[in-house]
Amino acid sequence: MKETALLFAIHRLSTDDGPGLRNTFFLKGCALRCTWCHNPESISPQPEIWWTERKCIGARDCIAACPEEALTLTAQGLSIDRERCTGCGKCVDPCPSKAIELIGRPWTVEQLLREALAERLFFKNSGGGVTLSGGEPCLQPGFVSAFFRACQAEGIHTALDTCGFPPWKNFEQVLPHTDLVLYDIKEMNSERHQRFTGVPNEPILENLLRIRDFRTPLGRYPALWIRTPLIPGYTATAGNVTSIGRFLAENLGDRLERWELCAFNNLCGAKYAKLGSKWPLENQPLLDPDLGASLLEQARQALGRPEAVQITGLV
Ligand code: SF4
Ligand code: SF4
Repeated sequence: MKETALLFAIHRLSTDDGPGLRNTFFLKGCALRCTWCHNPESISPQPEIWWTERKCIGARDCIAACPEEALTLTAQGLSIDRERCTGCGKCVDPCPSKAIELIGRPWTVEQLLREALAERLFFKNSGGGVTLSGGEPCLQPGFVSAFFRACQAEGIHTALDTCGFPPWKNFEQVLPHTDLVLYDIKEMNSERHQRFTGVPNEPILENLLRIRDFRTPLGRYPALWIRTPLIPGYTATAGNVTSIGRFLAENLGDRLERWELCAFNNLCGAKYAKLGSKWPLENQPLLDPDLGASLLEQARQALGRPEAVQITGLV
C-alpha cells in the first residue's frame, strides 16, 4: 500500500456525492478549466499556498521562512510569486495568525482507509460509503484503484466522481473496484464545451459509452449517475438539457440510475481571491428558480423517465 495522492479537502458524512452518508475525499489535479469551477485549488496537481487577507497581520515571518524568496509584502498585501513558489509549505507554520495555508498534502492509501473506517457504522446504517472527487481523481488511477480495493475488502461502498476526460486506460484500472460512477456531462455542443471547459466533449462521451458496457471481473456493472451543472449563461439552456437528455435516453437506457441537474452556486469567489486570481463568475446571479423548474421539466421529457431526474442546489 505505497500509493499516495495529494488531497486538498475531506468532507465527512456529506450527502452530496452519492447515496447515504459519505466521506468525500478531494484529490488535486484536473485537466479541465471550467469557467465555473468551484474548486480552483484542485486544478494544479502540485501543492500550493493560499493567503487570507483578513487574517494577515503583516508579521513578515513567512517572508523570512521562504527559501525561494517567493514572498513580498506590498501595499496591497502579501504578493506570492507562484513561478518561484515550490509549495514546500515552510512559510505556513511561522505565520502567527494562520493567514497562509498549504493546499494539498500527501496521503497514503492506508491513512485514507483509516479515515474511512472511522465512519464505517454511519456508512452502513445510511447506505453510504466513500467518494473520491477532485479535481479529477482518475488522473491518479493507481491510488484510486488501491484505495477502492481496500474499501471494498472492508465492505465499504465506493463512488468515483469524474469529469470523464482521463484516458480510458485509467478508467479500466479503477472501474473493477468502483460501485458507483458519478459522471459529468456538462454541455453537448463540443465547440461550446471546449469554450467553457478548455477541452472538447467527444472523449468524454466515448468514455461514457465504454463505462456503460464495462463489467467488473465478478460480472457486475458499476451503477451510473450523470451530473450536469446548470450554469446561467453557459450550460443552463433548454437546448443543452434536451440534447443531453436525448443522448442519455438513446445510449444509456436503464443503465442510467439517476440524472442530477446541479444548480449553480456562487460561494467560491473567496477561494479565487486566496489564490490571487479573480473568478470570472463572481457577479453571476444564481439560477432563477423558474428557469430551474422549467429545465427540470425539459430534462424529464427528453429522458422519458421523469423519476430518474433530480435537481439539486436550487434556492
Ligand atoms: S472538471 Fe471539476 S474540478 Fe475540473 S475544472 Fe471542471 S469543475 Fe473544476
Ligand atoms: S510554500 Fe515554500 S516556496 Fe512557496 S512561498 Fe511558502 S516557503 Fe516559499
